[in-house]
Amino acid sequence: MGKVIGIDLGTTNSCVAVLEGGQPVVIPNLEGGRTTPSIVGFTRNGERLVGQLAKRQAVTNAEHTISSIKRFIGRRWDDTSEERERVSYRVARGRDETVNVVARGSAGESVEYTPQEVSARILQKLKADAEAYLGEPVVQAVITVPAYFTDAQRQATKDSGTIAGLQVMRIINEPTAAALAYGLDKQDQTQKILVFDLGGGTFDVSVLELGGGIFEVLATAGNNHLGGDDFDDRIVRWLIKEFQKENGIDLSSDKIALQRLKEAAEKGKIELSSTVSTSLNLPFITADATGPKHLDSTLTRACFEELCTDLIEGTIAPTRQALQDAGLSPSDIERVLLVGGSSRIPAVREAIRRFMGKDPDRSVNPDEAVALGAAIQAGVLGGEVKNVLLLDITPLSLGIETLGGMFTKMIERNTTIPTSRTQHYSTATDGQTSVEINVLQGERAMAMDNMTLGVFQLTGLPPAPRGVPQIEVSFEIDANGILNVTARDKGTGHEQSITIVNSGGLGPDEVERMRIEAEQYAETDQRRRELAELVNQADTLLYSCEKTLQQNRERVAADLALRIETDGAGLKDALSMNDPQLIRLKMDKLHQTLLDIGVAIYEYSTAQTTRAAAPGTASGAVE
Ligand code: AMP
Repeated sequence: MGKVIGIDLGTTNSCVAVLEGGQPVVIPNLEGGRTTPSIVGFTRNGERLVGQLAKRQAVTNAEHTISSIKRFIGRRWDDTSEERERVSYRVARGRDETVNVVARGSAGESVEYTPQEVSARILQKLKADAEAYLGEPVVQAVITVPAYFTDAQRQATKDSGTIAGLQVMRIINEPTAAALAYGLDKQDQTQKILVFDLGGGTFDVSVLELGGGIFEVLATAGNNHLGGDDFDDRIVRWLIKEFQKENGIDLSSDKIALQRLKEAAEKGKIELSSTVSTSLNLPFITADATGPKHLDSTLTRACFEELCTDLIEGTIAPTRQALQDAGLSPSDIERVLLVGGSSRIPAVREAIRRFMGKDPDRSVNPDEAVALGAAIQAGVLGGEVKNVLLLDITPLSLGIETLGGMFTKMIERNTTIPTSRTQHYSTATDGQTSVEINVLQGERAMAMDNMTLGVFQLTGLPPAPRGVPQIEVSFEIDANGILNVTARDKGTGHEQSITIVNSGGLGPDEVERMRIEAEQYAETDQRRRELAELVNQADTLLYSCEKTLQQNRERVAADLALRIETDGAGLKDALSMNDPQLIRLKMDKLHQTLLDIGVAIYEYSTAQTTRAAAPGTASGAVE
């Protein structure tokens, strides 16, 4: 069996790791980075770029560069209004009200992609980088998601993996993965830890108990709409306001200016983690009748912290909630682990330090811990790591809608998974021959205030007075946190079930279609690469022909010189046609002619030497 890789598919950056000799190591990407920007770009000529290359073109081609796609994965249109405002590329309504993104296709037309497809491009690159590093094909992976991801978001992430050609062995929670990375070599004593994970787009906090090889998640809480992007956004708004005050120009509707502001804001924010003031300079940000305008502002750490007070405070309520759900107080926690890039913000560290009453642990690298933990779990599943047991939990309660629009919970939040529950229900009216099962996730009392994961009908009930039919509803959550719901009429034995997939927006057929498309794309990519290499070789050959001919004009007979010129022109023609077969053919021909020229040059110089050396040889050499 090949290696199983661990992937941290982050909102801003992704990271891939693998076990080597029992220890997890980060796999560098082909560009040499240890993390890869989770950005996909579509260039004007239809090429797709992923990672650093896509990030580089984001300013000049903002509308066709997709970042933070994780914010949309597995989410519904009406659920994302706030995010839609923030992104620079266009977003559209998917067929069943999920979010799609619009980018430019190869012919310059607008093409819609599902977030799953975009995420799959990132996964495909990580897979390819891992394959290049390991020197063997990689098929299986463990992928992490925020602990607070809903069922639909988990399912959609799994679908992305499938589209990328990966067999997703397990979806695990990011903070749990970080705890694995932290605790792998600290198994001797039992300890309770709190993982505080503030990334680019999401915030998660988990409380775990580790010891004796068991990693048990006690509680988890968080906010899927809080992360570093929000901090950037505050700076962008501040810059827009400052600029408007000074120049009377509103930059908020200028897409290119916005993208530049966003980049500068993130850079400034990161700088403020190590300095107390940063200058934000954007020359030629816009122009009016009086000429070009430059943005030049100074942001102090104090001002930044003031702009973001509520965001920083916003991390404390979920932390309190997780502790409360675990039945613990801050003093029961031995270690506080900080993960996610945004946990580097000093004010965030300070807020958590104050609340927990202790300094956070600095032994894990916040950018890499999650991928390393995923690699450990991959090792557990692949059989390489023994004696590690991960007991994760479901972050949100699950249940069904019952009479009067009530939400009846079947599985409470923070229940250890895998798990299953069965309950009996009945009909609400006399003679009712079908029931509708509305599967919900959330903590609110009324069904309408929670999120519907899927709806299905159990039909064919024999008519009976209300309350008589016995309908057995079973909820089963697998180790990935993915839910399967079954309803069975005990009278007839008739059964209906669903795996909650429709809420992620893609059916199995669609996932399969996209997987095939992604594979085809990989082939096209390969062909493109081969053609590029061939063109390079042809160029080198043409160059050496010209050079050889130039340097040896007098040594080469006129007909041979003409032949090489004709063959060279033939190769150039083939190059302009982009036809690899023809290029190869013409290269072979030219190569042969070049060899003939080589022979001619040697024959010429041998003849010259013989002529020059002849008298001496006659007298000296024979004796
Ligand atoms: P992650 O999703 O864990 O990769 O976190 C990415 C987020 O962390 C982005 O919003 C980054 O801007 C932010 N980030 C990375 N490094 C720093 C830093 N030194 N200070 C503040 N934020 C950072």
